[in-house]
Amino acid sequence: MKSSSPKVAIIGAGCAGISAHIWLCELHISHTLFEGKKMGGMLHRVHNRIENYPPEHYENGKVLAEKLCNYVTRRVIRKGDKADIFIEEDIVSIEKSAEEKGFTLRSHTGQRRFFSHVLLATGTRYRQLDIEGYAQSASFISQSTTFTAPSVAGEKVLIVGGGDAALEGARILLEHSCDVVLCSRSKYRARPEFVKQITKSDSARMLDIGIQVVRFQPEADVLRVVFSDGKSESFKKVFVRIGVDPVVPELFGEMKKDMRGYLRTDSNCETSIPGIFAIGDVSVAPLQSIATAIGDGGRAAKAIQILTQL
Ligand SMILES: Cc1cc2nc3c(=O)[nH]c(=O)nc-3n(C[C@H](O)[C@H](O)[C@H](O)COP(=O)(O)OP(=O)(O)OC[C@H]3O[C@@H](n4cnc5c(N)ncnc54)[C@H](O)[C@@H]3O)c2cc1C
Repeated sequence: MKSSSPKVAIIGAGCAGISAHIWLCELHISHTLFEGKKMGGMLHRVHNRIENYPPEHYENGKVLAEKLCNYVTRRVIRKGDKADIFIEEDIVSIEKSAEEKGFTLRSHTGQRRFFSHVLLATGTRYRQLDIEGYAQSASFISQSTTFTAPSVAGEKVLIVGGGDAALEGARILLEHSCDVVLCSRSKYRARPEFVKQITKSDSARMLDIGIQVVRFQPEADVLRVVFSDGKSESFKKVFVRIGVDPVVPELFGEMKKDMRGYLRTDSNCETSIPGIFAIGDVSVAPLQSIATAIGDGGRAAKAIQILTQL
């Protein structure tokens, strides 16, 4: 795609989108940043300490998110960054523009805007259980063991899932003297040392592999959980750690994805639709991390500069 003055849309203001915004400012490329919820994205849900994004340690993701947002604000004063930033503006669809070479983005307000290039920095969302009673049981469900464990210390809890996140969660809950039950529909995929530690604990019980949760029945102060073997038990809290899914707005055409729905990109972070780039967690990557997302933002911004140079 060639154009002398690119007009770029960044969808999502997590680490990837914020980094793309900073780099597009550095490269003096006109752009607009759209964020459906809050700047910082997934970082607001990271309750663990972040020790692998040098050179600092952060108490949790929120602390880093706040630092990133302050940095963006301070740059406007220091460097005169010019970009439109729309918060709480969800992009619901991307259409091929009929008049010009580029794309029309439609937001939840119905507003349509034209852009020559689009950076999808939309990240992932936690997978939910598609079972009866799920929506009515929100107050009994948590996705963060680090955050919730202190409030359920000594209580009986259920963890749904068999990956690292589920078993890491079980370890944290055991440290808070919880009575932990684990339920996984397939073989535990978590690292062996996690599985070994859980199996050795007297306070943890793994249900037979294949037994699934089929229904939630909220009661006064516990959640009654019905399993696929017909048995049921009550829990103070249920932790659903069954993975995440990539978030992609409605598109005019099919983009190449991997089996799990993550967007395939080339070395410029460009998807199979020329002009649309995918950065951070929404794209196929061997490592979903802050560093990867920040790096992708710069890579895609530079690629747009090179691709649009005359
Ligand atoms: C529990 C947990 C612990 C973690 N710990 C670490 C760690 O220690 N170290 C590390 O490096 N990484 C860690 N990670 C991973 C890291 O948080 C992510 O890789 C990174 O935050 C992803 O950034 P992103 O910008 O790609 O996506 P996100 O942060 O998910 O941002 C996507 C943004 O897009 C917005 N959005 C989505 N769709 C739309 C739309 N249609 N319109 C407008 N906006 C939209 C969302 O609201 C969101 O703000 C952890 C993740 C989790 C869940």
